[in-house]
Amino acid sequence: MDDLKGLHEECGVFGVYGYTNAASLCYYGLHSLQHRGQEAAGILVSDRQQLSIHKGEGLVTEVFNPEKLDKLSGDMAIGHVRYSTTGGGGIANVQPFLFRTMDGDLGICHNGNIVNANVLKAKLEAQGSIFSSSSDTEILGHLIKRKSGRMIERICASLEELDGAFAFLIMLEDRIYAARDRYGLRPLSIGQLPNGAYVFASETCAFDIVGAHFVRDVEPGEIVRVKDNELLGRFYTDQPIHDKICAMEYIYFSRPDSNLDGINVHTTRKHAGMQLYQESPVDADIVIGVPDSSISAAIGYAEAAGIPYEMGLIKNKYVGRTFIQPTQEMRNQGVRMKLSAVSSIVSGQRVIMIDDSIVRGTTSKRIVRLLKEAGAKEVHVRIASPAIRYPCFYGVDMSTIDQLISHRMDVDMLCQYIEADSLAFISEEGLKHSIHFKKEHTCDLCMACFNGEYVTDLYDNRKNLDD
Ligand code: SF4
Repeated sequence: MDDLKGLHEECGVFGVYGYTNAASLCYYGLHSLQHRGQEAAGILVSDRQQLSIHKGEGLVTEVFNPEKLDKLSGDMAIGHVRYSTTGGGGIANVQPFLFRTMDGDLGICHNGNIVNANVLKAKLEAQGSIFSSSSDTEILGHLIKRKSGRMIERICASLEELDGAFAFLIMLEDRIYAARDRYGLRPLSIGQLPNGAYVFASETCAFDIVGAHFVRDVEPGEIVRVKDNELLGRFYTDQPIHDKICAMEYIYFSRPDSNLDGINVHTTRKHAGMQLYQESPVDADIVIGVPDSSISAAIGYAEAAGIPYEMGLIKNKYVGRTFIQPTQEMRNQGVRMKLSAVSSIVSGQRVIMIDDSIVRGTTSKRIVRLLKEAGAKEVHVRIASPAIRYPCFYGVDMSTIDQLISHRMDVDMLCQYIEADSLAFISEEGLKHSIHFKKEHTCDLCMACFNGEYVTDLYDNRKNLDD
């Protein structure tokens, strides 16, 4: 229930090296990453002599048309889709950023959130830097500019100063760098086109769209450079490297056809549904999922329970974004416009409703009501993530801590609040087990929004943990 829940991934990145008409390919890649950010989009290209850019607010299809893409000539491109929260909205914060310097042009785009951004910004301003945006992404450009030596050394030394979550694409006239934070919080993968051109994407679903095959993920703490058609990787940090990919990427953000760390997202969600049944079975007639991201978990629950899976809720895909306003009244109306309960399916039935998460609780309450108004006899809610009790500082915009309903209410209180007949969340161990369903999957997960165990220092963000 993306738009209504108040839970937003902030960005997606896509890059291509060595493909004629790179801007068009980038357009298709960004289009497949549109679920990661719908507020703004941009593409920066290189024709090996100079960098050119077009960016704007809106969906990829609104920002670009064939004429605009034709003007972006070159065989290298990096692009970005953005959900405007970090640093706020406005065209100044739309990425990629383009720095024109005496050493040549430098373009940067970024998915994630730098937790020590304010500390670094204050330091850079004291040294004379002037920022043209409130985005934390711009900091990397200023850090690189202030370093000396070979470009790779300057970038590595700059990345070393950043703390938090990032997947960066950095483009010069003749090369692209791709770098991932040392915790691997945000995903970033490398693919290759049949002509040998390299592509980079926040999610592997973008490779399928452009006809690329998956090569490998950029490792946590790694920087990869593609230049002269050659791909070279190295670690940019001496600090400890952890593998702590964001658990919410599996539960909610990523597309079900994407693979993260080699694990298919739909499969993990289906396993989470099965696990949820093992942990919290309930006698009922049908299982339904809240479209779209809860369908996989609902299928898993139904399969494990031996209860039929039904389409009890239908999503209206054609509700414009203008209807989704962050006010209570608009959210009320938004649920009705986006979702319908199918009374011929749910009427007189004991329904198990699977959802991926509860943030504020208001959406769950309205869906339970929709189902009861459509004649459901009982509504048992099962959630395929642990309760969200803490805010995220790693590039996911979720409500402030006082708006997170599970921070204020235990499961019984919340069950009453959403007017369900029963409520249960998957356990943290159960979720880990669902994602690491094969023994060879050993990477760890960030679960800070469930348990408050943040993987980095929080710097001045710590004050946001106060009620
Ligand atoms: S705090 Fe939650 S949403 Fe943020 S990176 Fe960690 S698991 Fe993902």
